[in-house]
Amino acid sequence: MTTLTVAIIGRPNVGKSTLFNRLAGRRLAIVHDQPGVTRDRRFADGRLGDMALRIVDTAGLEEAPADALEGRMRQQTERALAEADVALMLIDARAGVTPLDEHFAQILRVSPTPVIVVANKCEGRAGQGGLMDAYGLGLGDPVPLSAEHGDGLALLYEALLPHEQALAARADAAPGGAGAEAPDPETAEMHDEAGDDGVSPLEARALANAEDDDADPDAPPAEADDTAPPRPLNLAIVGRPNTGKSTLVNRLLDEDRLLTGPEAGVTRDAIAIDWSHRGRPIRLVDTAGLRRKGRVVESLEKLSVADTLNAIRMAEVVVLVMDANMVMDKQDLSIARMVVEEGRALVLAVNKWDAAENRAAVLKRMRDRLETSLTQARGIRFVTLSALRGRNLDRLMDAALEAHEVWNRRVATGRLNRWLTGMTEAHPPPMGQHGRRVRLRYMTQAKARPPTFAVFCSRAEDLPDSYVRYLVNGLRETFGFEGVPVRLYLRKSR
Ligand code: GDP
Ligand code: GDP
Repeated sequence: MTTLTVAIIGRPNVGKSTLFNRLAGRRLAIVHDQPGVTRDRRFADGRLGDMALRIVDTAGLEEAPADALEGRMRQQTERALAEADVALMLIDARAGVTPLDEHFAQILRVSPTPVIVVANKCEGRAGQGGLMDAYGLGLGDPVPLSAEHGDGLALLYEALLPHEQALAARADAAPGGAGAEAPDPETAEMHDEAGDDGVSPLEARALANAEDDDADPDAPPAEADDTAPPRPLNLAIVGRPNTGKSTLVNRLLDEDRLLTGPEAGVTRDAIAIDWSHRGRPIRLVDTAGLRRKGRVVESLEKLSVADTLNAIRMAEVVVLVMDANMVMDKQDLSIARMVVEEGRALVLAVNKWDAAENRAAVLKRMRDRLETSLTQARGIRFVTLSALRGRNLDRLMDAALEAHEVWNRRVATGRLNRWLTGMTEAHPPPMGQHGRRVRLRYMTQAKARPPTFAVFCSRAEDLPDSYVRYLVNGLRETFGFEGVPVRLYLRKSR
């Protein structure tokens, strides 16, 4: 088994100890100061999913006299770095990037140890600005995390995985070395809906098997070469009770007849089902509809917001199933908004089309509602279908795959900036408070899944929301970001 040594680095108060404790978990009992090692460096064995970690924490420098702080921190950091396979540089996303953070980034930039920037305290919205700032550190894509709430551990796992694999490869290459295979977090089996310390299902995906040391023997090993099969698309099917979710899931699986693995049956604890649609691996996540079948209370069940939100968070693409004779009612809309707010791609399934009383009226209502009530993501795909009769299921899956492609799409920085110039020339930003124009200097796509852009400008506070909408709608039209949330953040340029 490979053990990855991870150093947790950053200025005081960014959450190093909190992350240390979270990664060390129950094994915290064995944390100890090693003899001969300074007191303000702690070590612990920890785990993240199936990954064994040795964690080096550099917290505890607050007691140092202020004038000596910088020098000691540098020394401390350099020592921790020398011992580590990879460094996690924490920033406090709520506070943004401070001069002291920059100071740490400088040390890390010249260090041979690879670095992952972690934007901690990212729960809720308050961390978004700091997360964007963190891109500016020049140390690669930051990982948004909440050490306190335990959110984002799956992303941290994914960021650490290549380092673990590199370490395993080095161990293999060394004489007598034994490498370890790291199961891919996306393909590893899921046995656990939520860990006992309140992790979300998304985290559970990475943390599945955390307590049992033998990784699932059926889980395929990770593959680094490009002959590896594409990752499954994580699809959730949600909607009000009785709209036909179970019928749809059963029909989809039945049509394709390509169930794999023992978990494909309707077992009580199955929360993911893998199947393949025209050669494309699909993973149905949190198939509440299926699980419910075993329960007596089925018909009495009300829409559970928590269940729905869980399913949404585990998915990349969410299919919202509606009843054609009751499309886009209040509950449908609130689920749809949840999907968009959570940053997922949304596809609307207008089910029971066979039984629709007035098809023209249904279509009109769909279009009206999309235009007036779901403006956060224009161009949302909708498909009319009959789960019962198996009609239009291919079109539904095509829409899901398409939405997934758009959700993952990236636009090159050069193209974006030529586009930005065109947009500001066609329609210059209005004058700011002091008669000076807001200048949009530069933009970049900070990330995909969903597409997220950062625009660097002077006087961000003076740019009206209407101008931001103009840019977002322009991005959608020009680059085809239809039907997925598009996020745009304004950053002050230095
Ligand atoms: P360290 O000095 O870097 O080791 O930071 P600590 O782990 O002691 O955390 C500093 C403060 O930030 C404490 O009050 C923590 O409770 C808080 N904190 C840590 N992680 C988070 C987080 O994810 N979100 C929020 N809101 N606060 C956090
Ligand atoms: P769920 O609660 O969303 O999982 O809904 P079910 O799949 O249990 O379906 C609720 C009811 O709607 C059942 O009586 C289904 O037979 C019926 N139903 C599902 N899909 C269709 C459809 O495409 N057309 C018609 N006419 N009925 C459907």
